[in-house]
Amino acid sequence: MINQKRIHDILHELGKTQLIAVTKYVGYEEIDALLNEGINHFGENRVSVFLDKYQHYVGQDIHWHFIGHLQSKKAKKMIHYIDYLHSLESLSLAGEIQKRRIEPLKCFLEVNISEETQKYGLNQENVIDFFHKIKDYDKIDVVGLMGMATHTDDTDRIQRQFQVLLDLKSQFKSQFSIDMALSMGMSNDYQIALSMGSDYLRIGSLLYKEEN
Ligand SMILES: *Cc1c(COP(=O)(O)O)cnc(C)c1O
Repeated sequence: MINQKRIHDILHELGKTQLIAVTKYVGYEEIDALLNEGINHFGENRVSVFLDKYQHYVGQDIHWHFIGHLQSKKAKKMIHYIDYLHSLESLSLAGEIQKRRIEPLKCFLEVNISEETQKYGLNQENVIDFFHKIKDYDKIDVVGLMGMATHTDDTDRIQRQFQVLLDLKSQFKSQFSIDMALSMGMSNDYQIALSMGSDYLRIGSLLYKEEN
C-alpha cells in the first residue's frame, strides 16, 4: 500500500526537483496507485523485474529509470526500454549501450561518494577521465552524476558526500560548459539532498506503508 499522506508531503517539498518513485519493493497495485497520484517516473534495479513491469505498462506515459548495478551482458535485453540509466560506471557497459541503442540513452555517471569499497561507482578522481573515454559515444547522452550517501543519521557526513557530486558538477561546468544534473537523495537523506540542489530524488521505502 502507498502512504498517500507522506507522498503528498514529499510532492509539496519538491519544487522543480523530479521525484523518481523507486518501485523495486512493490508490485502493480502500488504502481497503479502512484500513477493515480500523478507520479510517472519509476526506478527499478533488477533487470528481470524491470522487464515484467515494463511489459505490463507498455504504451503508458511512464519514464523508466534503471538505478541498479547493470552487468553489460544483461544490458542487451532491456537497454532499449529504459529512459534513464543512473548507474553508468564501466566502459564495457558503455560499449554495449553504444552498440545496441538506436536513440541516445540519458545516462548518469555513478560516483562512489561513500567511499565504501563494496559500493559500485567510479572513484571521484576517475570521473573526468571516464567521461573523456565515452564522450564520442553518440548513443550515450551524459546528463548527470549519481551518488548514494552512507545510510547514517550523521547529517554532516551525508553533506560531505553529496558535496563531492556538487564539486564534480562545477568541474564539468568550468571544463566543458556542461550542466550536469544531480541524482542524489533517498528516503533517509532526501531533505539534505533537496537543500543541496538535487535534480532527481530516488525515493522508495518512504512512499509505502509498513506492513503490520
Ligand atoms: C533502493 C534504492 C533507492 C531507494 O531507497 P530507499 O531508501 O528505499 O528510498 C534509491 N537509489 C538506489 C540506487 C536504490 O537501489
